[in-house]
Amino acid sequence: MLSELKARLLAESCEDYLCRLFERIEKSSLNAFTTLAKVSALNEARQFDKNPCHGLLSGVPIAIKECISTNGIETNCSSRILRGYIPPYDAHVIERLKAEGAIIVGKTNMDEFAMGTSTETSCFGPTKNPWDQSCVPGGSSGGSAAVVAGGEAPCALGSDTGGSVRCPASFCGIVGLKPTYGLVSRYGLVAYANSLEQIGPLTHTVEDTALLMEVISGHDGRDSTSAEGERRSYLPGLKDGIAGLKIGIPKEYFGEGVNKDVEKAVWDGIHTLESLGASWQEVSLPHTRYALAAYYVIAMSEASSNLARFDGLRYGSRQGEDKDWHTTFSAIRAKGFGPEVKRRIMLGTYALSAGYYGRYYLKALKVRTLIKEDFLRAFKEVDLLASPTMPIPAFKIGERINDPLSLYMADVFTVPINLAGVPAISVPCGFAGHLPVGLQLIGPHFGEAAVLKAAQAFEAATPFHEAKPEVI
Ligand code: GLN
Repeated sequence: MLSELKARLLAESCEDYLCRLFERIEKSSLNAFTTLAKVSALNEARQFDKNPCHGLLSGVPIAIKECISTNGIETNCSSRILRGYIPPYDAHVIERLKAEGAIIVGKTNMDEFAMGTSTETSCFGPTKNPWDQSCVPGGSSGGSAAVVAGGEAPCALGSDTGGSVRCPASFCGIVGLKPTYGLVSRYGLVAYANSLEQIGPLTHTVEDTALLMEVISGHDGRDSTSAEGERRSYLPGLKDGIAGLKIGIPKEYFGEGVNKDVEKAVWDGIHTLESLGASWQEVSLPHTRYALAAYYVIAMSEASSNLARFDGLRYGSRQGEDKDWHTTFSAIRAKGFGPEVKRRIMLGTYALSAGYYGRYYLKALKVRTLIKEDFLRAFKEVDLLASPTMPIPAFKIGERINDPLSLYMADVFTVPINLAGVPAISVPCGFAGHLPVGLQLIGPHFGEAAVLKAAQAFEAATPFHEAKPEVI
């Protein structure tokens, strides 16, 4: 798809294409973009028309999640506390996109500081799901998924700490990949829970995700957790098929709590993979039931420390308090953060405090190791794992927002992957009623090529990626 778009942009006018895109965005009711970079994007398009460059993404418009730093474009993490903050530098992934000729069209809405599963905790209000505007698009990269599914940008970047790329990809019927921890530099990604998160692509097709991965992955010395080694390539061999591939079906990821239509679509997907030459067998990830508790303790603990830097003095607009440091700092944070962010800072601070550190945080780290070992053991037997991405389809806006536990529970199949640091993709595999369902394919560390190859074979054999919602 992006390769067709690139050819079209060379043959026609990139400026005209972008003008049509902005017209569509400006009429949209999805509330998916937070800031548009119209002037710079149109300038770049005109330059491209005069003098086409030949990068991997030359002329291709892309939307960027609010929490990824963009030089000269506001980056506020959909939080009042960061309104007005304009970074003086680009994140590593943005440098890479620009070097390959991509054009940034704007920033997309998200749950405040990426804390959520529905894009409802944003200070800009909720984003709507293009398939049903009374439903959430998933989160926290809901804006990025909605703009791609709704035809407002051909591709986008999101970030995934516990499912935030895969959940909205699943709810919006598109492809989303969470790379192996360390494969994509986090330099310039505003940290929520830094030991868990990775930036990942959201696209219509698996090939487009592979193309974006070629661009954004690779070592970067400015992220101390960035993996060393040669840059990898994901396009060669992508269409080689999956004959002989062994797929594990984690028994803990099916059954109780999984919507029946979701379960059926995922099993149909597994049978499709079987018809393409793969075989499947049941496997066990026995510590799955502890994953949510461990994830939320670790994520909130890291958040409480990462968000300490937002005092309203260094970043964003200062909100008018002029008393002693403590009063000013508290007043700014009380006004600047929304309720979900405050809840997590408080719970995280509690889990890290003297006396509770061993009981909660250290224990969660031990559980994390057990969960990682579950995956390592499974990958001795099978090449990939398959499961539902989410146990449910998109839910109604407002339905769960006052019940944080029910929102946290929806992450049950995505958070173990972040705890283990392995890669996973969500690909559209059918519908529950009128709402899309995602199939999650999980690989071993740095097994992106195998994950993408299986997802590509699945996509080529099924029609779901072609289904488009009627929006506007
Ligand atoms: N829903 C999860 C959370 O709220 C994951 C969010 C994310 O991946 N950024 O922590």
